[in-house]
Amino acid sequence: MTIMDAQSKIIRASHQIDMNDIIREGNPTLRAVAEEVALPLSDEDIILGEKMMQFLKNSQDPVMAEKMGLRGGVGLAAPQLDISKRIIAVLVPNVEDAEGNPPKEAYSIQEIMYNPKIVSHSVQDAALADGEGCLSVDRPVEGYVIRHSRVTVEYFDKNGEKHKIKLKGYNSIVVQHEIDHINGVMFYDRINENDPFKIEEGLLLID
Ligand SMILES: [Zn+2]
Repeated sequence: MTIMDAQSKIIRASHQIDMNDIIREGNPTLRAVAEEVALPLSDEDIILGEKMMQFLKNSQDPVMAEKMGLRGGVGLAAPQLDISKRIIAVLVPNVEDAEGNPPKEAYSIQEIMYNPKIVSHSVQDAALADGEGCLSVDRPVEGYVIRHSRVTVEYFDKNGEKHKIKLKGYNSIVVQHEIDHINGVMFYDRINENDPFKIEEGLLLID
């Protein structure tokens, strides 16, 4: 499918993104460097971003996820929909506290980012202690995915306004995973091939 075919299907009012819209490893679109989106944003690109965010919300809602057959996700990049554009959505829920009280803020990050770019990063590396998964990868891949511990990211929001944010911890990892997708990089590219659980000095493991 061409970009326009995939995008015009997905942005239809009646369409909700599900697992059938998500391409899997082996598809060359996942290895391409995606195109920047034009500013001011087109309605088509704004709607696409909103559909991507709605997918993440559905995927985290137990009832919707069951009904639609969705794997839970905290991030999605347009190339995963076979749309080679620099658009990502991230939605990281906060968890309830030890007493079971709901968090003050539902999400620690909720953002649709257009043309996101890492403009600086820490010297320190970090990895999720439990490794990473991907909606485009239907198999477990074990090992530490070595990333920057902290990043500064610039992006445009759906109103075309420029933002510059600093990220650390889990949010930093999620955004780096999604930005990798718009550069044709898969998470397992960053696992040490010979020693997947090698811990270099200074590596921060995130629970
Ligand atoms: Zn992924």
